[in-house]
Amino acid sequence: MAGGEVAEGILAGVAERVRARSAAGLRAPHLAVVLVGENDASETYVRGKRRDAARVGITSSDHRLAATATTADVVDVVESLNGDPDVSGILIQQPLPPQVDAAAAVEAVDPARDVDGLHPLSAGRLVLGRPGLVPGTPAGILRLLDHYGVELEGRRAVVVGRSSIVGKPAALLLLGRNATVTMCHSRTVGLPGICREADVLVVAVGRLWLVQPDWVRPGAAVVDVGVNRRPDGRLGGDVDPAAAEVAGWLSPVPGGVGPLTRAMLLANTCRAEEARRPG
Ligand code: NAP
Repeated sequence: MAGGEVAEGILAGVAERVRARSAAGLRAPHLAVVLVGENDASETYVRGKRRDAARVGITSSDHRLAATATTADVVDVVESLNGDPDVSGILIQQPLPPQVDAAAAVEAVDPARDVDGLHPLSAGRLVLGRPGLVPGTPAGILRLLDHYGVELEGRRAVVVGRSSIVGKPAALLLLGRNATVTMCHSRTVGLPGICREADVLVVAVGRLWLVQPDWVRPGAAVVDVGVNRRPDGRLGGDVDPAAAEVAGWLSPVPGGVGPLTRAMLLANTCRAEEARRPG
């Protein structure tokens, strides 16, 4: 289940919508990224986001604060972006330094510009099954499953990991598609057996190769969200690659969910602009 080609399809669709708006005399969507302090991984992610944005005609800007910034400093920047009519979407790059209250920073974002889908209003809409901005990774997981024709309705789905950014929204999206969903976490007892019951297994933990081949039901669709450093320095997922011999589908790491996460962020940015200024 390679994510690259699915992501390319999403990006092509976004580029087409941006072109159509431009042909209608409407301005390009704009993504504002707030970065606090210096973090190599964040810099790499942000470079990738900027590059993808430029490819589809979305403009972007970086708003950098010193590593010593306070919560109030971050909220000030976010509020000034909320007031800028040219800004379609605001992304606060995480992790934030420990002195910054990440929840307060996210809650300061105008929900109409919450392209990361992390504002409590966006999360609440998802819980209620109402349309809204959904975080990129879980939205990308659903696009991947749909692209490969994985049946969800009535199937048993197991999500391992319950973060607000991946596990919980992924479980809610699967529930919204009428899967029967079980959520697992670090206190779950009998995890291998629960995973073995899954027709669709989504793993978002952050532990290299936690899920072993004998945890996977033969023929199951397995989405590996984890990104971990292997002892040899390369990247590896949360699922042992040998599970591919048991699973019907297994998304690779890298090159599975990652490209979709970035593509969905840009799709959200385009959607936020379309909602604020319909064509
Ligand atoms: P997180 O906030 O650290 O959450 C990890 C979750 O895994 C928690 O719910 C935790 O349970 C659970 N967990 C930890 N150890 C476990 C175990 N031994 N058995 C079962 N559950 C366990 O992480 P996250 O932000 O969701 O990210 C998860 C992974 O996905 C990371 O590797 C991250 O790098 C990757 N990721 C990838 C993308 C992408 O685009 N490819 C995007 C986002 C994240 P508790 O709640 O009980 O602590």
